[in-house]
Amino acid sequence: MTDSDNLLTDSQIKTTCPYCGVGCGVSAKVENNQIIAVSGDQQHPANLGKLCVKGAALDKTMGSQGRLLHPSIEGQTVSWETAIETVADRLNTIREEHGPGAIAFYLSGQLLTEDYYVANKLAKGFIGTGHVDTNSRLCMSSAVAGYKRAFGADAVPCNYEDLEQCDLLVLTGSNAAWTHPVLYRRIAAAKEKNPAMKVVVIDPRRTATCDLADLHLAIAPGSDAFVFNGLLRYLKQN
Ligand code: SF4
Repeated sequence: MTDSDNLLTDSQIKTTCPYCGVGCGVSAKVENNQIIAVSGDQQHPANLGKLCVKGAALDKTMGSQGRLLHPSIEGQTVSWETAIETVADRLNTIREEHGPGAIAFYLSGQLLTEDYYVANKLAKGFIGTGHVDTNSRLCMSSAVAGYKRAFGADAVPCNYEDLEQCDLLVLTGSNAAWTHPVLYRRIAAAKEKNPAMKVVVIDPRRTATCDLADLHLAIAPGSDAFVFNGLLRYLKQN
C-alpha cells in the first residue's frame, strides 16, 4: 500500500462512532483528506440516522489541535530517545529499590489485542510485575461471568428491538439517558408509542433516566444483591 492509498478521497464514508457501546453508524463527509462534517447513518440499525451530541461533534475532534504531539518531560519537549531513557531509568530505579511488584500498569480498554500483548510482555516479561490490568475488566468481567453462567456464552442476549418491544424494562445502575443517549431515545420513543410498557430504574441515585421510569427503586448502595435474591425467591414461590 502506498501513502496515496491511505488518503481519503473527497467523498462520503460510512464509519462507527467510537464513544459508547450503542455503536451508532456515522456518515462522514471527507474533503482533502479531512473529515469536515458528520451525520447519523440513516441505514444503520443501531441509530437509524440519529446521533447524540458527542457523536454529532466527531468532526470537531478529528484535528490535532490541543493534542500532545511530541514527548514532553516537565513541560519541556524532548526527543523520543530521551523520553524512553527517562521512563526506563525511573522504572529501573523503582524496581531496584522496591522490587518489580512496586510497579503496576493500568491500561486502556481501547487498546487493540496486539497493543495489549506488547504491554503485558513489557510488564510481565521484562519488568517482572504481575500487576497488569485494563479497565475492560472493571467494565465487563462481572457481566461476562454472568452471561456465561446464565446463557453459556459471553454474548449479550438481546438486541435493541427487544428493548423497544418488551412489556417491562428494568434498568439497573444505568443512567442510559447520559451514557447511551441514542438507545435511551429509542426506549423513550417506544414507551411513548406503547404506554403499557413499564420501565423500572434500580439506582440509589435519582438520575436523568428516572424521568422515564414508572418506578424508581432508590435502594441503598450495596443492597442490589438482596433485591435480586428476593425477586428470584418470589419467582420460585409463584
Ligand atoms: S449514543 Fe452518542 S456516543 Fe454513543 S455511539 Fe451513538 S453517537 Fe456515539
